[in-house]
Parts: sequence; structure tokens; C-alpha cells
Amino acid sequence: MYRHVPPVDRKMMQKINRNTLLNLIRVHAPISRTELKRLSGLSQGTIFGMTANLIEQQLIVETGETQSTGGRKAELLEIYPDGGYVIGIEIREYELMVVLLNLHGEIVATETYLTQFRHHPESATAIIIKNVEAFIVATAVPREKIIGLGCGVSGCVNVQDGTVVDSWILNWHNVVVGTPLRAHFDWPVFVDNSVNCMISYEKLFRSGQMYHDFLLVTVGRGLGMAAIIRDLPFRGSQGLGAEFGHIPFDLHGRLCECGNRGCLEAYVSDYGMLATYRELRTNVDPDKDISLPELIKLACQNDPIARKVFELTGTYLGNGIASLVNLFNPECIIISNDAEELLELLSPSMHTALQQHIFSQLGKDLSIICEKSTTIESWARGAGCLVLQDFFSSPKQF
Ligand SMILES: [Zn+2]
Repeated sequence: MYRHVPPVDRKMMQKINRNTLLNLIRVHAPISRTELKRLSGLSQGTIFGMTANLIEQQLIVETGETQSTGGRKAELLEIYPDGGYVIGIEIREYELMVVLLNLHGEIVATETYLTQFRHHPESATAIIIKNVEAFIVATAVPREKIIGLGCGVSGCVNVQDGTVVDSWILNWHNVVVGTPLRAHFDWPVFVDNSVNCMISYEKLFRSGQMYHDFLLVTVGRGLGMAAIIRDLPFRGSQGLGAEFGHIPFDLHGRLCECGNRGCLEAYVSDYGMLATYRELRTNVDPDKDISLPELIKLACQNDPIARKVFELTGTYLGNGIASLVNLFNPECIIISNDAEELLELLSPSMHTALQQHIFSQLGKDLSIICEKSTTIESWARGAGCLVLQDFFSSPKQF
């Protein structure tokens, strides 16, 4: 009794080989065909045939020659940045950020459209379609050069059908975004949590390139986290990823935006830090409100209450990240935030907490990278990288 083995799908094999070559060229450029043969294990004939096709499609270019080593000189190959473009969009409460990326993940055009997404999921996809169409016209990018649309949104997202399961920031619950966008546009459409989008960029083009297992933690409007495990995005059994911000921190603590009490995000986020300040101050007019940039400025001027806020927040964040290290044992953790000096203020107490709570040898050789000043543009760029991540990875055959 033999198990039926399906015949090899020739087109699928060609697509796998093509994407394998594209990714090797992306990572190792400039690279010769000989080196491509060595790294891919493909035959010389396949390499020559496929690179000729990729040059004809303007996805790669010959950029020069290797040094002669007694034999013939070999042409070097690299990705042609303007061979294709992707659109990335970031959905915020009151704005839609749209960027156009080339194949190097560089932003070539941006636009911000003011709108009202918070509390209004019913009109969201129509607004997205209208603005993306306007963006294509404004940038004059040929439609046939667009290879996909990536969409980033806060909260839990089902990446299979592109449904926003729960976004507390937007007050959206079970909002189908992917299906109507896929029905309208001619290209692949990907929808994911914004932090998962951002980690795609880190993995493809930035600090994450050199790691197989790493985490990204974002401190800002919320407290987000995404993970790359063995070079692949961590999705969990339902495809929803991880929700670091909503792990219990104080069971009887503050009310979180998600409706639960005492989530870590209610303490380690823009609004969490302001709440800590309100709790600590005693001699300040309770009706006088303060913004996070003002609080950072106060701390930089050595205001003791403001400094205490960041010391406590750094400890809470360090404890949380120590738990992540104990669970995932990553090679690297990238911490990113929107405000310029914030990570410097959080850093001392965060590192103390990390040293105290990382178990045994799990923190050995751990790299911690702090990235400042994440802009809304970089979030939209992350969304575009969902498309590039797919474009440069081999399709799933089984
Ligand atoms: Zn919560």
C-alpha cells in the first residue's frame, strides 16, 4: 500500500526557485551567478535562465563585475529598486498614512489623509479605497508596477481573512478589512497588527536581518510586541500573534482600554505614564493636564516627580521584558518608541529590572537595541513590508 504522492507542480517549483533567487540576491547583493549557484543548490542552467527572466522583468540588474581570478570576470547582480512598488497603509484613529515603497523598502512617496476611523468601522474600507486610489493618481505610479498592498492596524488581527478582531484604540470589533480591499484591488492584500508589520521591516531591512529569533517591543499609544521565531513571524494557533500589553500586571489596578483591570499597558504606554504622574503629584492643580512631551521635558529638567514616573515605568517595562526573555529566549530585543528622549529616561531602571528577573543563562548574549523616534511613516512602511516579506519568501508548497 503506497501513499499517493502528488506530482510536482512545475509552476510552483518555478515560483519557489524564483523567489529563492530573489531573496538570495536581496540578502547577498551584489552577488555573482556562481555564488548564487553555490548558495541555492540550483543548476547552472536554471540560474542562467531565471536571472535572464528576472532581468527582463526589471526585478534585478547587473551592476558590475567581480575581480578577475585568472578566469573570466563574473557579472554581479542586485535587486532593481524601481522594478516594482508596494503600498503600505497605517490606520490610525484620525488619520490614514499611505506610503509607496520600492523593492529596497525605501519610501518614495507619502501622504496623510485626515479622517475619522475611531468608532467608525462601517465606512473604513470605502475611505481606504478612495484615498489609496487618490494616492496612486497623485504619485503617477503605473498600476502594473504595484505588487501589493499592506495594511497595518492596532489590536488583534486575523491575518487569514484580514479581519480586525479587536482594536480597542479604534473601538473596532470583528471588522472585515481584507476581503473588500482584495475585491477592489488587483494585487495581493495583507492586513496585520501594526507591530507585526514593523517587525517585517526589521527582519527584511534593519537590525533584525542578523537574527533568527528576536522580539520587537513598542512603547507608545499602546504597548505592543511582535516576535520572529526561527526566521518566521510568530502567529499563535489562531493567527492573532501575541498581546504583551494586556498581560496582567496588577489585578486590582487601573482600568485598561481593553476593559480589563491592571493590564501592563495601563502602566507602560503614553496614557499609562501620564496616569502614574497624576497619581504621584500632590501639589499640582489636579485639573491641569499634561502631555507626554511636557512630562519628558520636566524629567529632563530634573523634576523629581517626573523622574520618578520614568523610573517606575522603566522598572515595569524591564520586568515585562524579563518575562518575555524567560519565555522566548531571544537573541535580541528591539525596543522602539515615538518620543525622542523616552528610552533614555526608562533605560537605567529597565536594565536593573532585566538583570534582576532574567532567569539563569537566558539573558546570556542577549542584545538589546533601542530605536528612537518611530514615526507614523515608519509604521506605514512596516505595513508595506508585509508585501515585500511575501514577495521575497518561497510560497508554501505543502
Ligand atoms: Zn488591557
